[in-house]
Amino acid sequence: MKILVTGGAGFIGSNFVHMAIKAGHVVINVDALTYAGNIESLKAIEENPSHIFCHGDIADKNLISDLLSQHTPEAVVNFAAESHVDRSIDGPAAFIQTNVVGTLNLLECVRDYWRALESGRQENFRFLHVSTDEVYGSLGETGSFTEQTAFAPNSPYAASKAASDHLVRAFHHTYGLPTLTTNCSNNYGPNQFPEKLIPLVIQKALSGAPLPIYGDGRNIRDWLYVSDHCTAIVKVLEAGRAGETYNVGGDAERENIVVVKAICSTLDSRRPRSDGKSYAEQIVFVKDRPGHDRRYAIDATKIKTELGWRPTVDFEQGIELTIQWYLDHQDWVQHVLDGSYRLERIGQGALA
Ligand code: NAD
Repeated sequence: MKILVTGGAGFIGSNFVHMAIKAGHVVINVDALTYAGNIESLKAIEENPSHIFCHGDIADKNLISDLLSQHTPEAVVNFAAESHVDRSIDGPAAFIQTNVVGTLNLLECVRDYWRALESGRQENFRFLHVSTDEVYGSLGETGSFTEQTAFAPNSPYAASKAASDHLVRAFHHTYGLPTLTTNCSNNYGPNQFPEKLIPLVIQKALSGAPLPIYGDGRNIRDWLYVSDHCTAIVKVLEAGRAGETYNVGGDAERENIVVVKAICSTLDSRRPRSDGKSYAEQIVFVKDRPGHDRRYAIDATKIKTELGWRPTVDFEQGIELTIQWYLDHQDWVQHVLDGSYRLERIGQGALA
């Protein structure tokens, strides 16, 4: 398959691009290389003729239309986004620009391209939009999000993703575009920008800095190892029903404090502190994130029963793999940190 991927220099996108190329697909990868995009994550496929990289913005109509007509892909997978909740608290406008305006532009270009395809190719074409469980808002102590749960986004990030999901839905219903949407829980694994909880804690621990836990540390997320998310996307792309949405989750609900302690104990055995103490001694509780959602949990029954997908990496295994990757790729981390981000706290908004 020839796939146009957007945001393929980011965390999940780069993992997906590697997987797709290994599986024999051709990938046209368009990425704006924002602070979160890192071409170094694609180094191993730099010279691979199955990977065509294009530095550009999904909001650029001419560029996207040209890429579609030049490469004639059978599918488009949209990862490109502003993705960090804390940044959306400090500056929501960038999230509206890429996640809403950019996605709308992409949809319009893809619709026009798809309409002009000959009939067999038109039926087989798919537009897959990668989204988040954060569109559903926050849960109490019980229950989980299904595809029927009403949207109730609480952060500017979640609101911008919910808007993009609605646009995707509308393009299917209004124009018949064969769309698919995946709403996935928190991902972790190689190539994640170290502003997100797991790589942030690994880096701060190694540098001897305090490990900040928002609020009481008891907010719960459902964690999914990134390669399992990528296989879910492949399954949905290959066999998902056009117009449908699929929830994707890892059956791995953990309180933030439990995640941080797990990182500390793995580091204690793999890279012990020189003073012999535990990294857990660096944990500090800090003021909570404004509007911090308490709990997310995914009911992934639909993708499991309809498409036979299952997560294969459990949390304990995944956290070990992730920590080892960061220990082995400190040069990658240093290069991404050469930019403006310096592991500082952002996103306190009016509480700052
Ligand atoms: P990321 O921030 O690591 O990567 C985003 C990529 O998009 C970067 O390479 C960036 O350069 C690129 N980009 C940003 N604006 C662009 C634009 N206007 N045009 C082209 N490229 C642009 O994000 P991620 O964590 O890999 O997330 C990828 C997608 O998956 C996002 O849509 C996100 O909402 C969704 N998602 C993420 C998670 C998670 O836990 N990380 C969970 C569920 C869903």
